[in-house]
Amino acid sequence: MKNFNPADNIQDLQYFGEFGGVNPSISDSSTYTFLSAKTMFDTFEGNMEGCYLYSRHSSPSNLYLDKALAAMEGTETANVSASGMGAITPTLLQLCGSGDHIVSSRTIYGGTYAFLKNFTPRLGIKTTFVDITKLDVVEAAITPETKVLYCETVSNPLLEVADIEGLAKIAKKHNLKLVVDNTFSPLSVSPAKLGADIVIHSLTKYINGSSDTVGGVTCASQEFIDSLKNVNSGASMLLGPTMDSLRSASVMKNLRTLHIRMKQHSHNAMYLAERFEKDGLKTVYPGLKSHPSHELYSGMINHEYGFGGMMTLDVGTLAKANALMELMQAKNLGYLAVSLGFYKTLFSAPGTSTSSEIPMEEQIEMGLTDGLIRFSIGLDNDIERTYQMMKKCMQELNILASESILTK
Ligand SMILES: *Cc1c(COP(=O)(O)O)cnc(C)c1O
Repeated sequence: MKNFNPADNIQDLQYFGEFGGVNPSISDSSTYTFLSAKTMFDTFEGNMEGCYLYSRHSSPSNLYLDKALAAMEGTETANVSASGMGAITPTLLQLCGSGDHIVSSRTIYGGTYAFLKNFTPRLGIKTTFVDITKLDVVEAAITPETKVLYCETVSNPLLEVADIEGLAKIAKKHNLKLVVDNTFSPLSVSPAKLGADIVIHSLTKYINGSSDTVGGVTCASQEFIDSLKNVNSGASMLLGPTMDSLRSASVMKNLRTLHIRMKQHSHNAMYLAERFEKDGLKTVYPGLKSHPSHELYSGMINHEYGFGGMMTLDVGTLAKANALMELMQAKNLGYLAVSLGFYKTLFSAPGTSTSSEIPMEEQIEMGLTDGLIRFSIGLDNDIERTYQMMKKCMQELNILASESILTK
């Protein structure tokens, strides 16, 4: 991994606009003309490199973003989609049909969990949810019908870390595809370099980073992406979760600053996590030595991008969590909102919001407690100032004892 730098790979790509513009031209067409009928036929059959047919299949603007994201993840190619779910669901449906089985981490994004738990059984696809941090448990769940091993690099919302190299070995041994949702850790982790077959992102989060759109991507081999886009049998082509060209052009421009943003998100989150832990709060952050997978994660990440911007604090009860979030919002420290990767800190109580698809008894079993607040730490310029202001809020609500810190 030493020689692989995802941000340098993005930077090394060069695109010019039609008139020498420093940004590529935006393709504003749903359909494309052909000079000959034969070329149209060949394009339909998928035999014509560089020809466009119809924008649900591909468009020049989307291909620019595909290439940049493939360069970032070190895969042959990629396919952007209208949302993260628009990448996840066709990918899984392309890999699995009736009678097939998926082994999935139980701590995954609520929408993905709901899709696997409630929706895919209607199509005859069964999923076993496991504690992804226990490789023996993962392997024991595999059956002759299993086709896919599914996880998130850093899980939502509990920030568990998947041992991607270990999982890749299991996947190889049983001839499964390892699909990794890397939404929480772009640049920091390069799952394909650790053995993942397919890497997915919700572009909605860090990669776009401005909370102005939803988007997604599947990064994989040319063969798999071709199958997704096949006009006769491709799940992306046939289900139609296509990203619009105007949007892919704007995501592309935001991608240009991802490395700077990730460094600042990571720096700020590390700063707050260290201090809140010292103050005695139950703090979960993969950059803390107290995190159960700290060693593992340290060995997985591209260190210059850090441990990421996601952190959780457990403040005891839902009432306290709600009061704290409302107070922090009133003090302009961040917004009570789902999603992540914004310049502003975002916070929510996952049990009642993003993970509400997960039944209460399962939430308790996986450690998703009532008082848990998930933070997506923003790009704050002076994080010490932010810390002091957050601390004041906590003292006001008796979440932290009030004597200490302000003098420290
Ligand atoms: C948000 C999110 C998704 C879904 O992405 P959308 O763009 O909202 O469809 C999937 N996985 C993770 C980890 C997410 O945070």
